[in-house]
Amino acid sequence: MKLTLKEVANKLNSAEKILVTAHVSPDGDALGSTLAMCLALRQFGKTAQIFIDDKLPPYLNFLPHLDEIKRPQEGEKFDADLILLLDTVIDRTGNIRSLTDAPILNVDHHVTNTGTENDLYLEPNAAATCEIVFDLLKEMGATFTKEIATCIYTGIATDTGFFKYQSTTPKTLRTAAELLECDVEPNYISEQVERRTLNDFIGIKHALQTTEMFFGGKVAGIVVDEQLSKIVDTTEGIIDLIRVIEDVEIAFVLTYKEENATKLSLRSKNVNVAEIAKKLGGGGHIRAAGCTFHTNLDEAKETLLKTLGEYF
Ligand code: 5GP
Ligand code: MN
Repeated sequence: MKLTLKEVANKLNSAEKILVTAHVSPDGDALGSTLAMCLALRQFGKTAQIFIDDKLPPYLNFLPHLDEIKRPQEGEKFDADLILLLDTVIDRTGNIRSLTDAPILNVDHHVTNTGTENDLYLEPNAAATCEIVFDLLKEMGATFTKEIATCIYTGIATDTGFFKYQSTTPKTLRTAAELLECDVEPNYISEQVERRTLNDFIGIKHALQTTEMFFGGKVAGIVVDEQLSKIVDTTEGIIDLIRVIEDVEIAFVLTYKEENATKLSLRSKNVNVAEIAKKLGGGGHIRAAGCTFHTNLDEAKETLLKTLGEYF
């Protein structure tokens, strides 16, 4: 059922034990929104615990209370009366569903979220789930501490490429301005998010060397194979380095996850890549989307190029 923000606030107010979660391969918006919500719920005397079923990327290590995030263990149960699911659909949370049978309250900004089986607040015009979280916490009367504001600002900044993408609206900038009034340090956050280990930098250098052009230069792609994926902690941001190539419409990165799991990231200048990702079993936004192929890298690449061929 589609909810209003007020109804979301009411549901949270009447819950006592809340499991907060977001997608695997967590990014700044996933971690920023879960942390901000968890900290705010605790202000209201709730029991709130974040579970994310994946490794957390080191470039987000600076976020407050990150060490309290748990990864579900085999057979583990968590006593909750509500799951607050942020920035994704339940299918993209790994094994979260096995922790509890509690109902799901889903808050998201992905246009491809068509979740009808649970309570959903969807605002596809929001630049980040954190932009919605800001409004929600205002509705709930939470105190915007520096920690909460830092988490929310990080989610908005990372999902908009630091206020560059088309998703950036006057409201996005007004929200960011209000967060700066809560003592957020934008220079500190950008420095932390963009920091890379020397290892990652070398990995990025190797990955860039795999750049291939397709369809007369309209598509640029990078492949991060098993060997390369093992030496880097993150390839976050690398796709933006090839999207800027003149005449490139779509940039992709294919990353080895396991023998039969290959992650695809898509970015575009104009083409609706959410639609392409959806066809491939994933989702996302018009200009930033992705999916996971349950095949090896070579087969994933072949499937992708065949699908892209329908567009070029
Ligand atoms: P990224 O390339 O940064 O991993 O993801 C870009 C966008 O696409 C994000 O908004 C992300 O949530 C979405 N996305 C990436 N992979 C998947 C996927 O497997 N399924 C769905 N539904 N969305 C995805
Ligand atoms: Mn997001």
